[in-house]
Formats: sequence, C-alpha cells, structure tokens
Amino acid sequence: MILRRGSKGPLTIHLINPSDSAFGTAVITPRWLFVLATATPIEFGDPEICDETLESLVPERIAAGDVVGIGIHTGNALRGYAVGRLARARGAYVVFGGIHATLYPEEALELGHAHAVVKGDGDLAWGQALRDCARDAPRRIYEGGRVAPEDFKAARWDLLPPDRYMWASVQTVRGCSKHCSFCSVWRTDGQEPRQRGVDRVVQEVVELRRLGFRFIALADDNFYPVTLDDLAAAGRRADKTRLHELEGLRRERFELMDALAQLPDDMVFFTQITMEAAEDLKFLDAMKRAHIRGALVGVESVTEAGLKDVYKGFNLFGDELAARLKAFRRAGVHVLGSFIFGLPSDTDSTFDATVELADRADLTFAQFVLLTPFPGTVDFEKWVKKMNDEGGEKVDGIPLTQHWLIPEPRRPKLYTPHPTLALEDIRIRTQGAWDQFYSWRRVWKRAQILESMKSRLAFVLVSKLYRQMYANTGIATDSARVQRSARSARWIAAVCRRLFLAAPMPELAVPTSRPTPLATASGA
Ligand code: SF4
Repeated sequence: MILRRGSKGPLTIHLINPSDSAFGTAVITPRWLFVLATATPIEFGDPEICDETLESLVPERIAAGDVVGIGIHTGNALRGYAVGRLARARGAYVVFGGIHATLYPEEALELGHAHAVVKGDGDLAWGQALRDCARDAPRRIYEGGRVAPEDFKAARWDLLPPDRYMWASVQTVRGCSKHCSFCSVWRTDGQEPRQRGVDRVVQEVVELRRLGFRFIALADDNFYPVTLDDLAAAGRRADKTRLHELEGLRRERFELMDALAQLPDDMVFFTQITMEAAEDLKFLDAMKRAHIRGALVGVESVTEAGLKDVYKGFNLFGDELAARLKAFRRAGVHVLGSFIFGLPSDTDSTFDATVELADRADLTFAQFVLLTPFPGTVDFEKWVKKMNDEGGEKVDGIPLTQHWLIPEPRRPKLYTPHPTLALEDIRIRTQGAWDQFYSWRRVWKRAQILESMKSRLAFVLVSKLYRQMYANTGIATDSARVQRSARSARWIAAVCRRLFLAAPMPELAVPTSRPTPLATASGA
C-alpha cells in the first residue's frame, strides 16, 4: 500500500473513461481500463475504475494525492480535459494516455492540466508514471512506444462491475498493414502486426466465459493481418525471409482459431476484418469453427471512385462487392458493413445506392458515418494544410482544425466542403440512410434468418439500439431528438443486456492450442 503524500490514507489510483453521455449499460467493455488495471503495480492496490459511458464521475471520490489516469481519443478529448482539470483542482496527479494524447501531448498538458502524458502503449509506461507520481516526480512525457506482443497485458476482469456490459473485449493483434487515408491505426499501432500469444488470449476468453460472458469482441485493428496476396507477393521474392515471417503469423491465427473452436458452442465472437478475408475460404472456415459469428468490414464506398478517395483500392465495388460480402454470410459470419458518406466522389445517388447494396449483400448490420478528418490521418494533414492556406475558419474562436475542442452542440457534423453536395444535405441524407436500413420492415425481414421468435425479437431490439446509440446521438442536430434517443437507448440497452449473458461456467477448462501444420495455414 502507498500512502498519499502530505495527506492521510492510502493513495488511490483512478482510471477514467470520459464520456458526455451515460447510458447506464454499455455494449462493449472499454478494454483499456481493465488492461491498465493489470499494468498498475501491485503495491498501489486495485484501481478504482470509472466508465462514464455507464455513469458520470463522482468528483468527491478523488482525493488530494491520488493519481487519475484518463484515456482519450479525439471524440472524447474535450470531456477528458474537463475531468483532468477537475481532478487536478482536487489535488490529484493527472496522467493522460490514449491515441489523442499520444498525438497531442502538449494539448493534454495545457487544457487537461495533466502532470504527465503517456504516449503510445501504456502496458509498461503506466507503471513507471505511477511510481514517479508517488514520489512526487512525474515526468511530463512517457514514451510508451509500441510494446512487443509478449508484453501486452491481459485485462483484470475481476474488476468488471456486475450487470453493466453486454460484450466483453479481448485483443489478439495490434497494428494493420494497410494505409487507409481516414484511419490513424496504421500510424499509431504500426503496420507490422503484433500478435498476442494464443494461450494468453484463450486464457482470458475462458476467464470471461467462466463469469458468464458468451459474447466477446475481438478488439483487434485487423483480425486478418496476412492476406493470400501478401503471401503470393512475398513468395515471388528471392529472399524468403518475409514469406516465412508471414507464414508464421498466419499459422498462429489458425492455432488461435483452433483453440477457440474447442470452447463451448454458445460462445459468439465478433471481430474487425478486411474484405480480402472473404476470398480465403480456409480462413473463413476456421472463423466459423472458432465461433466467430460476426465481423465489422470497412466497405467505405460502393464505387471505385469512392474507394480511391480513401486509398482503399484493395476493396471491391459494384456486383463484385456484393458477392464478396455475401461470401462472409455463406460462411456463417454476419457482417456489420461500415460506409462513409461525404467523400468527394459522392453524388445524389450514392445514399440510396449504398443502402441498396447493403441490402443486396445481405448485411446484418450497417453503419453510415460522416467523413471526418481525424488527427493522425493522411486526410487530416491534407485538410489542415488546405484550411490554413485558405485563412482558417473558426467556431466561437476555435479553429475548425481543432474541431474536437468545439463544444458538442456547436460542433459541425461535416468539415470538408463537397464539390457538388451541400454539407447539410449530406448530413440529412446520411440520417436517411440509417432510417432506411433500420426501418421496422427491413429489420424484421433480416430477423427472419433466426429461427425462434425470441431470437428475432432480440435481433430487432439490438438493431434499434445500435441505431439509437450511433445514428441519432451522433448525426442528429436536433437536441430534443438526441435526448429522446439517449433515453430510449438507455431503456433498450438495459433490456438487451440480459439477452447477451449466459449462466457462468466456473469449472470451464482452458483448451490447449496445438501447432497448426503449415499446409493448412497457408491455404496450400
Ligand atoms: S481502416 Fe482498417 S484496413 Fe484501413 S488502415 Fe485502418 S484498420 Fe487498417
């Protein structure tokens, strides 16, 4: 136990996930909170975890001399800074981390009143920051970097509050070899996949199933890090070193899926994957056996020009796109297709054509997001340069190029002028795409894939919840509509949560992973 400096009682570590909206129940556990709990050195005791997507922070819980860790991405940075100022005013040490703090450490120090910022992975650097705070000597910056996969920490699931989350989350790989222009993952987590050891992943999954979680999100940047094209390209090189590295990574994926396949049949995994996996039938088959029943696939655009806009030329478009997405469904993997609206090549007809394609491709869920230049991306850099060249626009004195600092009600929904469409038109039609895809008629039609009436009703509820949480609260500008949606999301979420849990299995044994023969793994 460590005592607070100049104060009475033991020092408490707080880990806070900032959010402006609290729903009481959340869909997926914010994994980083529980990973940093593991990374907290034992002498500090158990950290106190506050996920503001469940309930807002109670400031009185923070005492002078405590250490408060706040993780931010661009979307919740403004709330994170408010929490940081509040914690510092109460005499606590304030440490920021997360993607946004990694990109803008000075901003967190200035606006979040941070004592310190951990850049990059917190698995190792967080412990050092805590020890320095405890001796009143925090450094301004800790370079967490990209830790090796063997140093990835597991999560402290014993600290999970009961009855709050529908899905648990486990990470199996960090990094993505692609370079999509709207995405910062490949720059922050790196382009070289860092895969966690199979046994450690499976151990964590088993721990969760023992607690009664049967739905688990594999919170990876890209679950399919080595494509058949990657293997073919490496195979053409005279030096086979890279080929052998890729084969090793691929083999580990199959070992992981073989181990997951040995888990109880009621388990359901969901992951994020690139579309190329659909042409890899052995991989799809292994996913199915491993109980991976759903995947978020970044479709982004249904046209060739749209894909070029976002440097995603490896995706297909038109009929081939629909056929490839259907391949997931045939393999028993339901797709949540993600689409971006507001791309320069979008036209009047893009919105309806996208919903039509989503229908035709048998997507189970879809999300329609507005093109937003996020820091750390290629798009953002180009946009900032253009804005600066044009003199820079401001909202309430805050440059648009720091849009995350504009209070939510005043924050624009779209930033990049469109060559042919009015921005408000794009926003309204994006809202329309959500309304169309999640209309009662369409949702009920999709629910027919399920056999029992209970499952169909559950599907309808989850579909409506998804729409309320992400469309109405994220795209709508009418505050009454946003509040109504937040209220109904809260209610639906409480009902839905019960549908996701199963009876705990405290005796569940950990399956053993077996080396997978290369012939199977490489699709040879
Ligand atoms: S959008 Fe997906 S595929 Fe593209 S770089 Fe990001 S994680 Fe990789």
